[in-house]
Amino acid sequence: MQPLKIYNTLSREKELFTPINVPHVGMYVCGPTVYNYVHLGNVRTFLTFDILNRYLTHIGYKVRYVRNITDVGHLVGDGDEGEDKIGKMAKLEKLEPMEIVQRYTNDFHKVLEQFNLLPPSIEPSATGHIVEQIETTKSLIDKGLAYESQGSVYFDIARYNAEGGNYGKLSGRVLEDLLTETRDLDGVGEKRNPLDFALWKKAAPEHLMRWTSPWGDGFPGWHLECTCMSTKYLGDTFDIHGGGMDLKFPHHECEIAQAKGANGVEPVRYWMHSNMLTVNGQKMSKSLGNSFLPAELFAGSHPLLEQAFSPMTVRFFMLQSQYRSTLDFSNDALKAAQKGYKRLINGLRIVKNLEYIADDAIAVDEKQVSEVEKGIQNCYDGLNDDLNTAVAIAGLFNLVKKINQLYMGQVQTAQLGESTFTLLKESFVAIIENVLGLIEEPNENVEAFAKGMLSLYREYKEAKQYDKVDEIRGYFKANGLVIKDMKTKIDWAYEE
Ligand SMILES: [Zn+2]
Repeated sequence: MQPLKIYNTLSREKELFTPINVPHVGMYVCGPTVYNYVHLGNVRTFLTFDILNRYLTHIGYKVRYVRNITDVGHLVGDGDEGEDKIGKMAKLEKLEPMEIVQRYTNDFHKVLEQFNLLPPSIEPSATGHIVEQIETTKSLIDKGLAYESQGSVYFDIARYNAEGGNYGKLSGRVLEDLLTETRDLDGVGEKRNPLDFALWKKAAPEHLMRWTSPWGDGFPGWHLECTCMSTKYLGDTFDIHGGGMDLKFPHHECEIAQAKGANGVEPVRYWMHSNMLTVNGQKMSKSLGNSFLPAELFAGSHPLLEQAFSPMTVRFFMLQSQYRSTLDFSNDALKAAQKGYKRLINGLRIVKNLEYIADDAIAVDEKQVSEVEKGIQNCYDGLNDDLNTAVAIAGLFNLVKKINQLYMGQVQTAQLGESTFTLLKESFVAIIENVLGLIEEPNENVEAFAKGMLSLYREYKEAKQYDKVDEIRGYFKANGLVIKDMKTKIDWAYEE
């Protein structure tokens, strides 16, 4: 089998994945700033790393997956000036900042569960690590890489780069260009250099979220929390750091500078970034009116949506693209995904009920065996090639063809031989359920309907009342189902 390769943003190359401390893997992913409902672009990012976490576990690694909650320090505009996003929402809604944090953390967890994402191993919050952030700030001041200015503390980028730092390397930016771009920004007065970023900010009297520090009352800068929490739980250098493409600069660039400055070593071996989501070819944004929430998608309640789409349909849809390509939401693409998902789930329903039938009169057919092995191989080759779920899904559809042939009796299980048959069954189920996290959505209405109707169907068939039999077939069709009245235990399936 091909070994796992992942694209490293830092080297701009696909690299062989070799963890520092096999079989352990440390992975840190920047979590949400919990001041609003989670949007679909965020879901795509977290889904990407859910697949990575699942796949690494599947191939035998023990993953410590840390994904934080940003509950302080992320300012409106993503820079060093302006209100705290959570503090602003708290004032608007006349709530405590921690009520805002709780409300949207709950929403975040609920939505991720609806999409069947596994929880991380540790979910630390920024406010829970104020002490660590003050300590790291102190240590950066001691090393001469940060300075206090009017109650705030800033990271000194010129000094960092003069001492061999590589600010700009991750995002491919040149320090001189950055200086030109940022010359006119606010807050320069306090900074030696406009590019310097806040490690600690002085809290104005009206600022809600504040802590005492050696520099007076204040709050931590946004970038610092991730450095403190990742090194605390994963060590000075760990395997994988992930996030959305939009975090590459300045957030991740600043994380590298802080960590390298404080600990003297490169913090991360593999930097991974997932791409954006677009809607009908446009960037998803509130101002364009094309941004919808997961709940609106599940209810079909947004004007841009022609119908409701279930969480598993959307999950399947997102996995049809590799995480580094942009992904475009449209009704047509989602409808196609709905069909594809049902086809895959029908394959899953069937394969779980298929049993090996030994038959001495049937010889093992090498062509059939090699088709199954190739199908499974294609799935793993896709996943090993920088988590190309699109290729893995194509491989699964080839296996669905084989599963249907077995179900229809066109191929006998004995032609595969017992070991290949078991391999097909186990691999197919494991890749769909454990790696891709796609499950058959519980639909009690459908189950109850199908159960009741099938017994009627059988009665009519027994009594040779074929007009009634056809009528019931019609009811199934109207509900998007088909009767699979065959010799196996599958009674019904989704219409594809
Ligand atoms: Zn972060």
